[in-house]
Amino acid sequence: MTVVPTGVRSDESGLLARLTLEQKVHLLTGADSWALHAESAVGLRQLITSDGPAGVRGARFDPSNPSTSLPCPVAVAATWDVELVEEIATALGREARSKGVDVLLAPTMNIIRTPLSGRGFECFSEDPLLTSRIAVAYVRGVQAAGVGATAKHYVANDSETERRSYVARISEGVLRELYLPPFEACVGEAGVFLVMAAYNAVNGPTMTANAILLHDVLKSDWGFSGVVISDWSATTTTVPSALAGLDLVMPGPDGPWGDKLVAAVRNGAVPEAEIDDKVARIFSLARRLGGFNGSLGAAVPELVDAGLLARVTSRSFVLLSNPRGLLPLKKANVRSVALIGPNAVEPQTQGGGSVRVLPSVRVNLAESLKRAFGGATSVTVHQGCLTSATVPSPLDGTLHDPVSGKPGARLEIRSPAGDVVFDAPIPSSVATWWDGLPEAVHQPGSEIVMRAVFRPGTDGPHVLGAAGAGRMRVTVNGTVLAEATSLFPGEVVEALGRPPELRVPISLDTGREVDVRVEYRPEKRFVTLRLGITPQRDDEELIEEAARAADESDVAVVVIGSAEGTESEGYDKDTMVLPGRQDELVSRVAAANPNTIVVVNSGMPVLMPWADQVAAVIQVWFPGQAFGEALADTLLGLAEPTGRLPITVPREEADSPVLRARPDAGDLVYREGLLVGYRGYDRTGTEPHFAFGHGLGYTDWTYDSFSVEALSITAGEDLTCTVKVRNSGKRAGREIVQVYLEAPDDDKRRPVRILAGFGTVEAVPGATAEVRLTLPGRSFARFDEATRAWAWRPGTYTLRAGRSSRDLRLSREVAVR
Ligand code: BGC
Repeated sequence: MTVVPTGVRSDESGLLARLTLEQKVHLLTGADSWALHAESAVGLRQLITSDGPAGVRGARFDPSNPSTSLPCPVAVAATWDVELVEEIATALGREARSKGVDVLLAPTMNIIRTPLSGRGFECFSEDPLLTSRIAVAYVRGVQAAGVGATAKHYVANDSETERRSYVARISEGVLRELYLPPFEACVGEAGVFLVMAAYNAVNGPTMTANAILLHDVLKSDWGFSGVVISDWSATTTTVPSALAGLDLVMPGPDGPWGDKLVAAVRNGAVPEAEIDDKVARIFSLARRLGGFNGSLGAAVPELVDAGLLARVTSRSFVLLSNPRGLLPLKKANVRSVALIGPNAVEPQTQGGGSVRVLPSVRVNLAESLKRAFGGATSVTVHQGCLTSATVPSPLDGTLHDPVSGKPGARLEIRSPAGDVVFDAPIPSSVATWWDGLPEAVHQPGSEIVMRAVFRPGTDGPHVLGAAGAGRMRVTVNGTVLAEATSLFPGEVVEALGRPPELRVPISLDTGREVDVRVEYRPEKRFVTLRLGITPQRDDEELIEEAARAADESDVAVVVIGSAEGTESEGYDKDTMVLPGRQDELVSRVAAANPNTIVVVNSGMPVLMPWADQVAAVIQVWFPGQAFGEALADTLLGLAEPTGRLPITVPREEADSPVLRARPDAGDLVYREGLLVGYRGYDRTGTEPHFAFGHGLGYTDWTYDSFSVEALSITAGEDLTCTVKVRNSGKRAGREIVQVYLEAPDDDKRRPVRILAGFGTVEAVPGATAEVRLTLPGRSFARFDEATRAWAWRPGTYTLRAGRSSRDLRLSREVAVR
């Protein structure tokens, strides 16, 4: 194995010479969960990493220093607006800096291979070009704020099922054309500082020890000069990972390198030059981040500007249908709004897993709508049906700590020896491992007791849920009501996202307080303990009440979608069907009121069997904390929903080219090759429910002309083209102009067409605007596995311009010589 030469590293030889082998190797494993080691011999301070990509958490969940919760990445990509993405990413980078974060563990740029992907919401798109353009803008933005971005998860981290062990089987051509381009673009165009090696293996070796993809492709072919960081606890080997090109093992302080790696260097298994290369990469990273300039000191928290956030959020909303033009609503015509649905009551602003932040603003859709519509319009709220996988937390103001009387609960932690090591109020009835609780909580045999006084707001049957993996006992007013033991789920994040829950029915009286005590002994390790209490409601009654309210109102706004725990890192979804009886809810509300607007609050697309029965459908993704304001502005037309789908929405699950990504005996075979997403629908001629690139906005556009600068180009040459469009509607608006490319041959294994470029225009009614796009020479190439190089097939290519992958208005032909 040879060390990849780059100019950056040689500058660090002076510093390297000051360190012993042990000191150097010490720097190659983290100091703790999020920090890298400092080294006083060279004046290096600790560098701090923290998760993104939909906000920056900071080293821990800290209620006194909350974070801006951004729209999830698939929503960000739905803007198709690279300038806006760069702007919001810079704001995110500044917030990270203000939280003392040097390295943001974002963006996630895996291709959304299936609509059931648990982590799909955290990726950008099913298309490599859209993913690349958005990822490059994101990385540039974050790094412009002096924070390192991390391109993750390199590569083929496309399934959460068995994510730590599966072997992705993908041909080199498919890797090069579909899964690698976003990483390649971030290295080549954005100079991304870090790349994260994924948990999974690709074609044999696990990604932390994959010499072909790390050493040969990333570092040699692309000349990546930054740091290859492992995903958390992904590194399982000493010598293979050290030789393959991994630079930094996270988290620390333990791990497979340390003394074992020192010994491997001493016995000649790993050349010391490899170690020097890794340390030099960390030094140059530190240099770029001001890591040699002493401590940064406390900074003033700097949250993302609320106006910018609301703009990004409404621009990410995709108006899927609006056949009668009900939207935007005219305020004067709307005297009453029935706000209906489980997500109207409990909006899902974030997906689950490491992406979660503690938002600085709590979303309340009813309040946002009331504020926007003004006093003359009544807004009533109706649950519609129940979908939550765990019993919801008690409503604000109904729970308090029995000792201090503060809102929330009391948490007591006993060490395995029985000593009380923590006894304090906590602000809610949820405790998680990242709350900074004492270390003893993680020791086997520790016990956690949550106590709270609950004041019921209604009479009658309630359900109480105590969630967490392990032994659980629930006591109410001194009487033990239930006891059970549950097993630890396969994935640690699953233990967080949808922990096993002990449910207890209980009858309560309005205003009569009860003492609740939950005793919990975690199985394996502590991840979360949650106490939920809610009045028991019957779905049939809830649906009836919602339909009645819709009938009595001018407009029904039905907010449906994923429930808490439906979409998360750590596990995949089982179905595209909406949880609970939401489909029925929509149909019955629509039957009661023709002015029914459906707001789909999910990260991944869902089946919408009722789409033709309603007046409008808007996909809002997991929109982050500006949900309320952005939704109100969109409904009233103060903002145009200019999002376009970055993923295809099928009519039926079976229409999806790849549905379930479940490894078989450890292997995840990418049989579909290049035919992922719209490429698969086009090849089989399957009609999507809503096509890739689709989105209506509030005005109409005609496509007037399409010109190319050359009718013939040589292999590798760029091509510039211009599309002229006209706003033929009644409002000023924005249009995302899309250009697709079709190859001369009709090879059934290849896509019919691929997205080759896109751009944004704005115009007032009647005005024309033009988009000039330069398609890089490689758009016309394919990866030839025999020669292991990009190849250009001569012939006549067709370029098509239009509004979506299925609404193509104009075409031009170009010969490639
Ligand atoms: C995730 C990464 C994340 C890391 C640290 C892992 O489980 O896959 O995306 O950055 O945890 O939280």
